[in-house]
Amino acid sequence: MKVAVIAVQGDVEEHVDIANKALENLGIKGKAFATIKKEEVRKADAIILPGGESTTISKLIFKENIAEEIKKSANEGKPIMGTCAGGILLAKHGDEQIAKTKTKLLGLMDIWIKRNAFGRQRESFQIKLNIKKIGEFEAVFIRAPAILKVENNVEILAKLDNYIVACQQDNLLALAFHPELTNDTRIHEYFLEM
Ligand code: GLN
Repeated sequence: MKVAVIAVQGDVEEHVDIANKALENLGIKGKAFATIKKEEVRKADAIILPGGESTTISKLIFKENIAEEIKKSANEGKPIMGTCAGGILLAKHGDEQIAKTKTKLLGLMDIWIKRNAFGRQRESFQIKLNIKKIGEFEAVFIRAPAILKVENNVEILAKLDNYIVACQQDNLLALAFHPELTNDTRIHEYFLEM
């Protein structure tokens, strides 16, 4: 199994490492690797879109035609996980910040996302979440977005306050937090089993 981690910016290596650990734990032969090559994205069996700055990541993936490749992959049913800024890019519906910055989204998931939803006082924090199908998970939030609402075809996996912070629509998984910044491989394992 080939797992492509889109390497525009952000916590790319952390995703590569933990995805490789998850593959090993599951006994799946394969490799996770960082890439910004369209051809490599096309050949991958699963794609991870890391966190970072959604405006920057958006510009680059559209410029390099990787966006097109990700969209194609999503429609073919390939599993795609977006974490934090990556989750923002998976959404169909953005907020006023996304409109103001003219950030292009991939528009794949029927979710409404809000950038930097947790405000100044809670810019970065770590908290135990109860995630459906996974259980208790120590989640790291860094200037995190939140999902305000979802269409009926989207399964809510975790909530924090009144916000949705993890959800799945068929082969697509969006998380507001950073599962690659802990040593817990369970979310990556869940994703690879998708
Ligand atoms: N605040 C960032 C954004 O809106 C996301 C932060 C992150 O990915 N850690 O793009």
